[in-house]
Amino acid sequence: MSLNIAKFGGTSVANIEAMSSCARVVMDNNATRVVVVSAAAGVTNYLVKLANEELTTEQTNEVIASIEQIEFAILAGLDSPPQVSVKLNELLSILRELAFHEEILHRPDLKDAMLSLGERMSSLLFAELLCQKGVQAENFDARKVIKTDSDFGQAVPDIALVAQQAEKLLKPELARTIIVTQGFVGSDELDNTTTLGRGGSDYTAALLAEALDADSCEIWTDVIGVYTTDPRITDQARPLPELSFEEAAEMATFGAKVLHPATMVPAVRKNIPVFVGSSREPEKGGTWIVKDCKHEPHFRALTRRRDQVLVTVKTPSMLYASGFLQQVFEILARHNLSVDLVTTSEIAVSLTIDNPPNSVRARLNRASIEDLKEISEVSVEEGFDLVTVVGNNMHSAAGVSSQIFESVKNYNLRLICYGANPHNISFLVSGADSTGVVKDLHRDLFEGN
Ligand code: ADP
Ligand code: ASP
Ligand code: MG
Repeated sequence: MSLNIAKFGGTSVANIEAMSSCARVVMDNNATRVVVVSAAAGVTNYLVKLANEELTTEQTNEVIASIEQIEFAILAGLDSPPQVSVKLNELLSILRELAFHEEILHRPDLKDAMLSLGERMSSLLFAELLCQKGVQAENFDARKVIKTDSDFGQAVPDIALVAQQAEKLLKPELARTIIVTQGFVGSDELDNTTTLGRGGSDYTAALLAEALDADSCEIWTDVIGVYTTDPRITDQARPLPELSFEEAAEMATFGAKVLHPATMVPAVRKNIPVFVGSSREPEKGGTWIVKDCKHEPHFRALTRRRDQVLVTVKTPSMLYASGFLQQVFEILARHNLSVDLVTTSEIAVSLTIDNPPNSVRARLNRASIEDLKEISEVSVEEGFDLVTVVGNNMHSAAGVSSQIFESVKNYNLRLICYGANPHNISFLVSGADSTGVVKDLHRDLFEGN
């Protein structure tokens, strides 16, 4: 029998009505035996606040009350047996304990324990909802299977171990019950709770699809598929029926929030088709992301990644000094910073680094800058966005770049990356300009043809 993994995002499990649509989606597909859920919308942001901000007791209590309100509203919509409410209260008391823990602001392991609670609560409640609808479903602790390193806040899964655990603990259960588990959450060698980075539930779903050799992986969210660009930027954006693995991977990497950046990696490894659709309107269909598309246009989509930091390191001695780049990248690697765009000149190298708000861990920290300063002059500029055109054969087709540059000729492009691969062209522009850049490109490349 075929196996499908279905993942439901934060807005899809935000309240009992939204959860009921998800339950219908699960029940409508016999192949769905594993369900991955995010925290209810808003909850992870509250948890990040509790984990990262110095709050007064009163403020802490207010944040906890906001979380309780969301969870209790869902519980109230269930005809739940008392043990569900007991379990929910247990999780909330762990939350309270962590929120008032004196080391919460300084211990990454405690922060991840805190962040995991949103998914642990929503999976408990969703499993119960399925049971009430007469479906055999069980809440399963994802930490037993999603084994990771100890890089709290951005943990890296151990693919072989995940496969082994899934084979041992999940596979034998699937004939008996639907498994409802947490996205985003894992555990390290010592069984400390870890998390996979914001938006990581998509990644969990793809990891489980890979580990269980699934036939498909569905990402159910609040839009009816992957669009030509974020529909929040322009109302002219339109859903795409089909995308290739490469295109989707580029889009995810370069900021299409609908897919966590790593989602496509396991899917590509095992050639598992990924579907993206709306849990509220499943009848409207969605996007199928597959290995080979029938049609591979030059321009497929536009993405935007906000909050980019531009770091320029400059040294007169770079001239002919081949070791300089190596030194720079060694420092970045030591601080676990991943670089997106790089340009070099004779004496300088500029690179961009992600610096999103609400991330669990600050990316560009003072220590990394200090280390760079040891070898060079360093300037750090903030407030940039990265806009990327995603498509096919962009490096080899005549006229492709001129069409793009014509469209953005009135904007100041701070950095351009073109040619590293056939699927994208990226520009760094000021945060204030990026909406205009995306709208203009969208008009010129996607509308009216
Ligand atoms: P979930 O909580 O279901 O994981 P997210 O908020 O993480 O949902 O992702 C869905 C959102 O991604 C959409 O509401 C949309 O605003 C945004 N988005 C960004 N780029 C795209 C795109 N190209 N296509 C569709 N949605 C996009
Ligand atoms: N709840 C987590 C977040 O908000 C993970 C996810 O939703 O995918 O980042
Ligand atoms: Mg998401």
